[in-house]
Amino acid sequence: MAQLTEEQKAQRAAARRRSSALAAEEDALRHERKRQEWDANGTRLTRDEIEAGVPCHGCGQPIIDGLGDWPPLMKLTEQETREYDAAQADFAARHKDCRGYRWSMSGSRALHCGYCCPPPPLSERQLERLGTLLRASRPDPAELRTWRLTLTCDHVIDVQQHKSHGQWTTNVRHCPTCDQTRRVVTAEAQP
Ligand SMILES: [Zn+2]
Ligand SMILES: [Zn+2]
Ligand SMILES: [Zn+2]
Repeated sequence: MAQLTEEQKAQRAAARRRSSALAAEEDALRHERKRQEWDANGTRLTRDEIEAGVPCHGCGQPIIDGLGDWPPLMKLTEQETREYDAAQADFAARHKDCRGYRWSMSGSRALHCGYCCPPPPLSERQLERLGTLLRASRPDPAELRTWRLTLTCDHVIDVQQHKSHGQWTTNVRHCPTCDQTRRVVTAEAQP
């Protein structure tokens, strides 16, 4: 087999980066379409509806089931272990192709799917906490570094990130030109 020139090697590496970026972008878009569908169909439940016991509009399971959190896995009784395994297997069977994380409300055991089931809105307390965290974490402009990102649509955007990161840290980014989530193909720190 002929040796590849440096240029050919670089071209192949760039093509590999691009195709893996496109595959991951597909997944991000699939989630984004689902979120748009939830908004269009009114699939999301309000906090009040959830607390009133309305089942999940994504999968039909209860959200608050009153069963209480699972005890730590090491401490499950034999009976609980069987129930736990059955619940996990049942979830896996119902969400075979979702490739989503799973979530449940604290104090409940019903498992919901990060792809099918709209997550519950944050409670007042969580919002308050988040606000405090965001205010505390607002960075000083002198602490930011600009990165030039090339996205899978070939648009180039400049974005900022805290200097403590040696590398660009997120894989997807909203492209303002396409108004769509895109995958980051390359990221170059700007001087
Ligand atoms: Zn659900
Ligand atoms: Zn699912
Ligand atoms: Zn674009």
